[in-house]
Amino acid sequence: MAASIKDISQVNIPEAYELIKGEFVSEAGSFVLTLRHKLSHARVLVFSNEDENKVFNIGFRTPPKDSKGVPHIIEHTVLCGSKNFPVKDPFVELVKGSLNTYLNATTYPDKTMYPVASCNDKDFKNLMYVYMDAVFYPNIYHYEEIFKQEGWHYELDNEDDEITYNGVVYNEMKGAYSSEERVLECFVMSQLFPDNTYCQESGGDPRHIPDLTYQDYLDFHRTYYHPSNSYIYLYGDMDVEERLVFMDEQYLRHFPAISVDSEIPLQKPFGSMKELTTSYAVAKDADCTEKTYYAFATVMDVTLDQKICKAFEVLFYVLVEMPGAPLKQALLDAGIGSDVDGEFCDILRQSMFSISTKNAKKGQKQDFYRVIRETLEKLVAEGIDRKVLEAAINGMEFKEREADFGSFPKGLLYGTRIFKTWLYNDNDPYSPLCYDEYYAFLREQLGTDYFEKLIQAYLLDNPHAVLVDMVPEPGLAEKMEEETAKKLREYKESLSAEEIGKLIADTKALKAYQEEASPKEMLEKIPMLKREDIRKEIRPYHNEEKQIDGIKVLHHNIPTNDIVYLRMLFDIDGLEDYLPQASFLSTLLGYMDTQKHTYTEFDTETNFYTGGITSDLDIYCCNRDSDDYRLKFEVRTKVLRNHLKEALDLMAEMMFETLFTDEKHLREVVAEGRSRLKVRLLTSGHQAAASRATSCFSKSSWLNDHYLGIGYYEYLVQLDEHFEEEKERLAAGCRALLAKAFRREGLLVSITGADAEYAELEKELPAFLGRLASFEESSTGDEESALSKMTKYIPVPVSNQEGFTTPAEIQYVAVGGSFAGVPHNFGALRVARHLLNYDYLWNEVRVKGGAYGVACQFQREGDGYFTSYRDPNLSSTIDVYEGAADYLENYTADEREITKTIIGTISGMDVPLTPNMNGSRSLTGYLSGITEEELQKERNQVLNCSLEDIRSLAPVMRAVADSSNLCVIGNERHLTDEKELFAVLKPLS
Ligand SMILES: [Zn+2]
Repeated sequence: MAASIKDISQVNIPEAYELIKGEFVSEAGSFVLTLRHKLSHARVLVFSNEDENKVFNIGFRTPPKDSKGVPHIIEHTVLCGSKNFPVKDPFVELVKGSLNTYLNATTYPDKTMYPVASCNDKDFKNLMYVYMDAVFYPNIYHYEEIFKQEGWHYELDNEDDEITYNGVVYNEMKGAYSSEERVLECFVMSQLFPDNTYCQESGGDPRHIPDLTYQDYLDFHRTYYHPSNSYIYLYGDMDVEERLVFMDEQYLRHFPAISVDSEIPLQKPFGSMKELTTSYAVAKDADCTEKTYYAFATVMDVTLDQKICKAFEVLFYVLVEMPGAPLKQALLDAGIGSDVDGEFCDILRQSMFSISTKNAKKGQKQDFYRVIRETLEKLVAEGIDRKVLEAAINGMEFKEREADFGSFPKGLLYGTRIFKTWLYNDNDPYSPLCYDEYYAFLREQLGTDYFEKLIQAYLLDNPHAVLVDMVPEPGLAEKMEEETAKKLREYKESLSAEEIGKLIADTKALKAYQEEASPKEMLEKIPMLKREDIRKEIRPYHNEEKQIDGIKVLHHNIPTNDIVYLRMLFDIDGLEDYLPQASFLSTLLGYMDTQKHTYTEFDTETNFYTGGITSDLDIYCCNRDSDDYRLKFEVRTKVLRNHLKEALDLMAEMMFETLFTDEKHLREVVAEGRSRLKVRLLTSGHQAAASRATSCFSKSSWLNDHYLGIGYYEYLVQLDEHFEEEKERLAAGCRALLAKAFRREGLLVSITGADAEYAELEKELPAFLGRLASFEESSTGDEESALSKMTKYIPVPVSNQEGFTTPAEIQYVAVGGSFAGVPHNFGALRVARHLLNYDYLWNEVRVKGGAYGVACQFQREGDGYFTSYRDPNLSSTIDVYEGAADYLENYTADEREITKTIIGTISGMDVPLTPNMNGSRSLTGYLSGITEEELQKERNQVLNCSLEDIRSLAPVMRAVADSSNLCVIGNERHLTDEKELFAVLKPLS
């Protein structure tokens, strides 16, 4: 029977395991067993508790000796078939047909992890079985094709063609290296750790991946994927004994212990800081005046001391991250770059503290370093403001106790955090979770100079450091492409006619292998649930309409552990012509001075009392019509009930008393916003491309694009480049927008919490409403004139074939269309979408095309799109989209296959909800007018979906894919080569 353990006497540890320790860990609400498998020496940690979202994770220490990407390729390929599940893609089979709440695999610099999660007991066991089989008995030894497909291979279709490289990991890493930040990070790591594994790129450097041989790859698996080198984690409500017996009998007892040399030696500290220069690729004709990066990073041997790590998390926030943080501000004030970032990283054997700036001028390296040192020295001499430190501690602790990681299972987050110490010290497997004592310790240190001493010792007096400048190099990308082409040409020249013939045959054979479906009897070995195992009923909404002082309050009555999740939603339907400005305004609030506080002080107040105050825009589509929507300006907070009053005071201050007079800071926020959005468009532009492609026929998509996509980016560029002309209009416009937005009329308050939280709101809200009323009365009446001076953004159909060129090596290819007029069964459409995503599109665009990802989406209001992620192709991907209709029309499947797809579809609909997500879901249902009855009807449609239902959706696919609404963000040369596709082709500035 499943039952959580409360006490060590309640569990019989199977004979095969040795109990090292058993104790209750209150922070994780779990009884934790630390075990060792006697024969194989596998390390096992069990977190027993009542959480139904169960987690299994198996990790291995996998330090690479080169940058050929072997750990990453192993990670992809062990999930391509194994002894008991000899199908080509069991991972996809599980995604398609399980109730998993998480299913993935990840390569880190020194470890590889394979986590699964599910709320369903039977499903959880299935997932765990397939994953253990995958890591210990993968088919990689029997099929070299697996290595070629996921790793790398030569491709040659015809004798006269040029040979190319292809492979999923190869393309994925080309995409990853398109990020300048990633290039800088890899360089810094390689210089900080010249003598141990961290100087290598575990994901694989595209220049080195083709040097990896099949034999070396297999040897890596043989060496490291043994239970003696493994870390097994179980979490949640399960029969612990039964699971331990299963692991022992099926796997662990077949692997007598061996000695695995995977330990990560410490990098010997440097005698003095290293100064280095490197370069990165920009377009040939790029303007290079403000394109230099500077970075300073230090290494400290503190990973195993979680107290110091926590202290550095606090310090990183205080020094670099928070608005007006001294290091960041000092660099901006000195005119060194426009976007300051950094990291405190404690997930490696030695920890790292880094700070970097971008968009800087050349020749500022010494100034960069001097400003950092002077700022830190001043802080050490004068002492850091105690309230700022305490507020940062409060803010971190709030998040840790709230443990709301969205759809990411809590158990998995715990299972990931413990690796900070577990991987390096068997005797310290989970201290990162025992945070109570660390916070108590840090609070005690507020009365001492502890934090200043840390700065002195680890940042100022630490010679294990690097100072780097990374300069733009026009033509570098072309040079690297030419090097690859040359290498491939030379390779081709070295081949005899016979060998070329063989290469063509190999290319064909690999494609044939990829085409061929796994035999039915093999597929049926993957364990699967039945339709009866799935819950029939939808999860209910939690919406109680109430009133406080004449204002409508929507109460989502859900237990939240004393936290109030509060949202104020203001109607701004009348302001839709100013959406980019309103979007920018929402990022400004909380980052500008108010009448009472500087923006730094305001952040401190917020962290001191609350779990954060944010503002945002939201677009709620109504009545299944993409031209019918509610636009909301939202201000949110999460706060412990006893601090709700302070939270409301701070919200009022932010909403009614923000000043827009600090031009210098306004300028900084614009530049930082532009820089960060650009990074997002370059490294994950699939969503933006999809919004853009649908925006030419859907008003809500157009708004989305102008609120957070390319439309918004273009607004920021314009603001950044013409700031001097714009600044006054901008400040006056912001004031006018606030006066127009924040009105009692059209205010909806949403609160997630139990009755006690609601009672507190009833007590505290009236004072806030009073301040809202005075704010309204104070309106000067100049708003209209200020608004009329601002540029209006009126939805006009944008060109529907756009290409945006970037220096990245890959594309995001999106096609969108409306299917509003096409009759369809929406539940079946959900099933068809799941099928397309994990069967047709997956095979064609990812497996064969080499893109990292691909997806389609169909909204209730009739907007649909296809979009790819880090895709080496362009028009061939569009051809695949166009084939989706035929695929559905000719789709054949037996009952088992359809049930599998239905289970997978349901798993996507039944993502476990945190209290906050649960309240949000209810609110969205309320505002968009989707009733519980409609949701139930859709769920029934999903559960009863038949083969005919799926086939009948071909016209929906035609409507979307044949619409020729196209948006591509990506490689300049690739887009130019196919320029006939585009009506507009321009660089993403
Ligand atoms: Zn990958």
